Amino acid sequence: MKVVKEISSMQEISDYYRCTGKKIALVPTMGYLHEGHTSLMLNARERAGIVITSIFVNPTQFGKGEDFGKYPRDFLRDSHICEKAGVDFIFYPEVDEMYKGNALTAITVNKISDKLEGSFRPGHFTGVATVVAKLLNITKPHTIHLGSKDAQQNVVLKKMIADLNFDTELVVCPTIREDNGLAMSSRNTYLTSEQKEDAASLYFILKEGRSMITEDKISDASIVKAKAAEILSSLSPDIQLQYYEITDNEELEPIGDLAKFNGEIVISLAAKCGTTRLIDNIIFEHNSVT
Ligand code: AMP
Repeated sequence: MKVVKEISSMQEISDYYRCTGKKIALVPTMGYLHEGHTSLMLNARERAGIVITSIFVNPTQFGKGEDFGKYPRDFLRDSHICEKAGVDFIFYPEVDEMYKGNALTAITVNKISDKLEGSFRPGHFTGVATVVAKLLNITKPHTIHLGSKDAQQNVVLKKMIADLNFDTELVVCPTIREDNGLAMSSRNTYLTSEQKEDAASLYFILKEGRSMITEDKISDASIVKAKAAEILSSLSPDIQLQYYEITDNEELEPIGDLAKFNGEIVISLAAKCGTTRLIDNIIFEHNSVT
C-alpha cells in the first residue's frame, strides 16, 4: 500500500492503471475509519483491481461553528485499517494541496442540496459535490463506493455524476451499525457510553416508521412523523430531533399520501445528542395500495 499526497502523482498513477486496463475504485472518506468505511473498501476490493481510499477532512463542507477543527484524525490508525482491508493507495492530501490557487469554481446541485441536511447546513452539499468532483478528476475511478448512511449525499452525487457526465459508476453499500442499532460514524467518538445507548433510539424510530407504513398501512405521513417523534421523546427525552422526514429517494420530495406512492421511500432524520449532531436513515421499497 502506498500513501500519495500530491494531486499530480495520484493522477499519474491512475492514468497508468487505466492504460493497463485495470478497474479503479475510489472510497472517499474523512478518516477516523470504522467498520462502515471498511465495508466500502471490501466492496471496492471485490469489484476493482486497484482500490484508492481518500482521507481528507474537507474544510469547505463544514459550516461556521461546526466541528472542522475538532473532527477526529489519526492517520496511523487509519493506514493500518486500510492496509488490512487490501487498499492499494491512500490519497492523503493537505488542505493546501487540494485548494491551492484562488479557486473560483464550485458545484451546486440545485434544489436537492437545500432540503433536509441542506436546510440545517447551508452550503454543505456544495462543499461535498465540489470536493468529490475534484477527487473524481484526481483518482479517475471507474466506481465510487459510498455508504447508505449518507442518503442525501448519495442523491446529490448521483445527480452530479449524471448531469456532468462523469465516467464513474456510483455504488451504494449498506449502513453498518453497532449491535444496538446505532449507525457507525466517526462522530460517535464524541458520545459518552450512555449517549451511545440512548442514540440507539434513533434507529428504533426509523424502523417504527417503516413498520407503520409497511405493516400498519398508515397512509398519512404526518401521523407517522408525529408518532415517531412521540416515541423518541418518551424513550430518549435528552435527544432533540431536528427533522424526521419521509421522502422519495430521487428528488427527496416529501410524500404526503403514502398509500399512493410507488418506489423507494427514505425516512431520514437528524438529531442532537448533547452537542453531537447525528444523522441516519432507512430506505425501503413501497408499492401503492390503490
Ligand atoms: P465520512 O468519512 O463520514 O465522510 O464517510 C465516508 C463514506 O463512508 C461515506 O460514503 C459514508 O456514507 C460512508 N459511511 C459512513 N458511515 C458509514 C456506516 N456506518 N456504514 C456504511 N458506510 C458508512
